[in-house]
Amino acid sequence: MLSRRVELFVESVIRDMTRLSLKHDAVNLAQGFPDFPAPDELKRAAASAIMEDYNQYSITWGAKDLREEISRKAREYNHIEYDPESEITVTCGSTEAMMSSMLALINEGDEVVVFEPFYENYGPDAAVSGAVPRFVPLDDDCYIDEDALVSAFNKNTRVLILNTPNNPSGKVFTKGELKLIADLCIDNDVIVVTDEIYEHILYDNRKHISIASLDGMDDRTITISGFSKTYSVTGWRIGYALAEKNLTSAIRKVHDFLTVGAPAPLQHACVAALRFSDSYYEELARMYDGKRKLLYNALIKAGFGCRMPEGAYYILADIPEGANMDDMAFARYMVSKVGVAAVPGSSFYRSEEGRHKLRFTFSKKDETLVEAARRLERLNV
Ligand code: GLN
Repeated sequence: MLSRRVELFVESVIRDMTRLSLKHDAVNLAQGFPDFPAPDELKRAAASAIMEDYNQYSITWGAKDLREEISRKAREYNHIEYDPESEITVTCGSTEAMMSSMLALINEGDEVVVFEPFYENYGPDAAVSGAVPRFVPLDDDCYIDEDALVSAFNKNTRVLILNTPNNPSGKVFTKGELKLIADLCIDNDVIVVTDEIYEHILYDNRKHISIASLDGMDDRTITISGFSKTYSVTGWRIGYALAEKNLTSAIRKVHDFLTVGAPAPLQHACVAALRFSDSYYEELARMYDGKRKLLYNALIKAGFGCRMPEGAYYILADIPEGANMDDMAFARYMVSKVGVAAVPGSSFYRSEEGRHKLRFTFSKKDETLVEAARRLERLNV
């Protein structure tokens, strides 16, 4: 006998595609993780932390020195102020921060507003916590449709999930859109859970704006981020949640009994990461800008329809017209016959819209992307 809860969602299609990719020896542009090394300085910091015996549990809600650095970074980069003692929780990746936040906030039947397309996890996050998701499609240009957003709110709405820069669309929400969300959440007494894991990966001089920095939002926002994407250490599983102290104490309770704590030596190494100079972040964005253009050009050449992402490291592409296959069939065809793995669009949509799309990541070495481009030329549709 299994719980009803687990019947509500399926295993991650993203990770399933990675397994299929390995099986077919394909170029894996499905799962968003770098295939290049993490910064040397960071690897040395982790190795030293183990040798210096940071090998036992840290404080459940995170090592003190790491929380202090996160607090400073949040002040300087995100323009938000959270107390390391009572308002910061270090978690096992931002994935755990999301789930712990939802478990801390949701009562059975509460509604959660989610923009579509959405990151795959938010469906299971809602299902496990007992929330009813209310999907709000972005318009054709990926902007918020104000009427659709307004009508998604009702007396049961408890949380709005935001993800900017966005996975999978590459959208960066504008200040005007964030203000609209903020006003609605204040009027309806709704908490924003914002996933900002791609906060340093932005293009064309765009600036990251944390919704918690807007007037009236610091007490009703849980800001989530982590080290995976910014420092190319997706396997370390270090993330965090920032929230005012009552929200934090609820998140900490869930976190404590779910995981006890994030890996102690890696938390210690992450202190070094937060001390990297500005040039590290400039170089990161510049590097991904080159990869973005490489993949975009390869996809256009192969007949996909897509737009340049504004941030993050994915392209959500329309399947070429002549393919005559839905996203699942086309993803299987791509991985087995073309040798390139991507994620079927339906993982990111509740509506049928996703059936015509695939998501590709460009968080890969240039040579990997060049090889994918070469294989995509074989695509004969
Ligand atoms: N965030 C990454 C992606 O969207 C990795 C997902 C995962 O496997 N946790 O591909």
